[in-house]
Amino acid sequence: MPDCIFCRIVEGEIPSRRIWEDDAAVAFLDVAPFKAGHTLVVPRQHVSDALEDADVLASIAPAIVAVGNLLRDKLDADGMNILSNVGEVAGQSVHHLHVHLVPRFADDAGMMALLTKDETIDADAVWEKLRPAQ
Ligand code: 5GP
Ligand code: ZN
Repeated sequence: MPDCIFCRIVEGEIPSRRIWEDDAAVAFLDVAPFKAGHTLVVPRQHVSDALEDADVLASIAPAIVAVGNLLRDKLDADGMNILSNVGEVAGQSVHHLHVHLVPRFADDAGMMALLTKDETIDADAVWEKLRPAQ
């Protein structure tokens, strides 16, 4: 899918802060995070959303679990929201399946506090905690 921004991130044609990958999936920090460490897990294979192909969705489950635990351990997250939007009416803006992992912290609790883009997050500081060892 040449015009798909997430295919291009998977291929490395567009830079991203990649924190994890396996044969099926790539995980990178969201460029406009709701909370510190907000990460997207995407399949290497292009499918448009979470309801298109059960096998592709299942193939990224190990990545979701690994990245969720990585975020919890390295950022001391107290919990996490894991969600995937299907269709523009539901808020989907990139039409390549992606699962949002949004670390949550006790001082900023609850669903109502989730969907706020936080422009004060220091992306480089988050990246230093999460980047894979060279
Ligand atoms: P959606 O709205 O489709 O559920 O989520 C798309 C997400 O992708 C948004 O949270 C948005 O900030 C993120 N995003 C869009 N373009 C880029 C990009 O080029 N790089 C990164 N890292 N994230 C992106
Ligand atoms: Zn794609």
